[in-house]
Amino acid sequence: MKKVLVTGGAGFLGSNLCARLLKEGYDVTALDNMYTGRIENIRPFLGNERFHFIMRDVTEPVDVSVDEIYNAACPASPPYYQLSPVFTTKTCVLGIINMLELAKRHNAKLLQFSTSEVYGDPLEHPQRESYRGHVNPNGIRSCYDEGKRCAESLCFDYWREFGTRVKVIRIFNTYGPNMDPKDGRVVSNFIMQAMRGQDITVYGKGTQTRSFCYVDDLIEGIVRMMGTEDDFLGPVNLGNPGEFTMLELAEKVIRKTKSASRLTFLPLPGDDPVQRRPDITLAGEKLEWEPQIALDEGLDRTIHYFAGLA
Ligand code: UDP
Repeated sequence: MKKVLVTGGAGFLGSNLCARLLKEGYDVTALDNMYTGRIENIRPFLGNERFHFIMRDVTEPVDVSVDEIYNAACPASPPYYQLSPVFTTKTCVLGIINMLELAKRHNAKLLQFSTSEVYGDPLEHPQRESYRGHVNPNGIRSCYDEGKRCAESLCFDYWREFGTRVKVIRIFNTYGPNMDPKDGRVVSNFIMQAMRGQDITVYGKGTQTRSFCYVDDLIEGIVRMMGTEDDFLGPVNLGNPGEFTMLELAEKVIRKTKSASRLTFLPLPGDDPVQRRPDITLAGEKLEWEPQIALDEGLDRTIHYFAGLA
């Protein structure tokens, strides 16, 4: 039975990935420091004898017998990763070094959860993997953006220097069940505010765009990427190319929740990207992957999930 380690396994993406891997019959170990991970996300697996949980920080070295590593550990919502930015950079950089060392020691395959944030506030649209980005190296998003860029660099250097088997995916905005309702990101904020009849907090004019991928689609792409040949490292964009303004998102959420909430406009946070949309041609070619779930359907499912928490 293949042994898989998922760092950040109690988080939003990590727990969805654990569920998928357990369903496929793997032996799954989740490692999490519970900074943004949540016990509710892994509670369904706790009775499963193929599931193991290690409460530990990814910045601490760890030794477990493993065939595959998915390195998802890092706070990913701007308010959380900006709370302790030095810790965020350490999580990205020391975390990937520890996981690459583990992969090297056990001849395991490692898949790094990179991010569309490596493109910064992009000047090319949509973003292809060949685009090198437009990142502020010392702004309030830099801890995450540069941390993740350094992690990519380390993955490729471990491959070039030691032959460690690595793969890199760049994840665009993703939403769905197991998101923390207090996470601070736009989809969770808007849905929770609409359900509670509170004002919908639009930052800036709300004309900035994002492309939202439903989590099941993303997990499918991630698993396919892990299954590619060793000489295919990526990076590969994974996201849904449907592009929406935050005003459009707010309007959809209000309509779907039949909410009486009104919009309130708050200042745009520093370095907030104006536009973001993945070019997923490479994922189509190499993984035969494209998202199946449109924003309307995904929002319905996510609203259902959040309604069940109340
Ligand atoms: N945003 C917003 N209201 C919120 C939370 C976020 O208008 O309550 C905006 C934010 O300024 C950004 C977009 O929504 O332009 C997506 O923000 P999120 O934090 O979800 O992710 P990001 O893509 O910025 O990392």
